[in-house]
Amino acid sequence: MNRSGRISRIGAPVVLLALAFLAAFASARAQELHPKVPKTLRLYVFDCGVIRGLDPALFNFKREEVKSTDFAVPCYLIVDPKGTLMWDVGVIPDSAFKDDGKPVTQGVSTATRTLISQLAEIGYAPSDITYLAHSHYHGDHIANSNEFAGSTWLVRPVERDAMFADKPPALVDPKNYDKLKDAQTVLITKDEYDVFGDGKAIIKSAPGHTPGHQVLILHLKHTGNVMLAGDLYHYSEERGSGRVPTFEFNKEQSLASRAMIEDYCKKTHTKLWIEHDYIGNSKLRKSPKYYD
Ligand SMILES: [Zn+2]
Repeated sequence: MNRSGRISRIGAPVVLLALAFLAAFASARAQELHPKVPKTLRLYVFDCGVIRGLDPALFNFKREEVKSTDFAVPCYLIVDPKGTLMWDVGVIPDSAFKDDGKPVTQGVSTATRTLISQLAEIGYAPSDITYLAHSHYHGDHIANSNEFAGSTWLVRPVERDAMFADKPPALVDPKNYDKLKDAQTVLITKDEYDVFGDGKAIIKSAPGHTPGHQVLILHLKHTGNVMLAGDLYHYSEERGSGRVPTFEFNKEQSLASRAMIEDYCKKTHTKLWIEHDYIGNSKLRKSPKYYD
């Protein structure tokens, strides 16, 4: 009796301490799984792989004219007080990874981390993603689209029509986006589309590389205006060169889009980020760090 009484007197504070610890842990865990909605726009940059050794001749360049022939493949999460947007979702689907933690190589592309694990690291699951949008339909931008079939897909009708045509265009892999056919979809028919309705994230038409190629402009409080420029360019050396890739959907349209976008960036003091620019990308802050 005495013995058990003594134990319970000693035990009570221990139990309370343990409960307090568990409660704190559970709350930290809940915060991790459902991150607080930020007060201002945030941009996370994920590592979705690298494309190695493409021949610069494909882009009308000579080897000695470009500093790097490797391409970065970033994926981006934009978090706004009003929702979330995934912009471009990689070159290798997460489903191609085995449980051994090893990098996956498909053709000239290699990815070392899954997109879902990088999202989870900052507390997001695909079900937390409000919107999905791609700069364009090429296979190195859409690999994980099916993971976001529960989000609302923002796409231009000409791009969507090409993706689901009986004969899909070159450089696409329909099995990696086939679930989008039934996804809730917003067909963008205007030049500019305000994603969250607060003017902070604007999708802008920049066709030519593909029929419905588009760019994303972000108005970040501290970083300023940033444009994720899709494949408007691939190398930094392309800017001002007048040269476009050999496989453009419409070369004249690409040149016109570049002229329009350069003018836009100048007038609005917007920094243009070339998504594939290997050297430029290597200098960017990567998730879990972010731009705001
Ligand atoms: Zn690309």
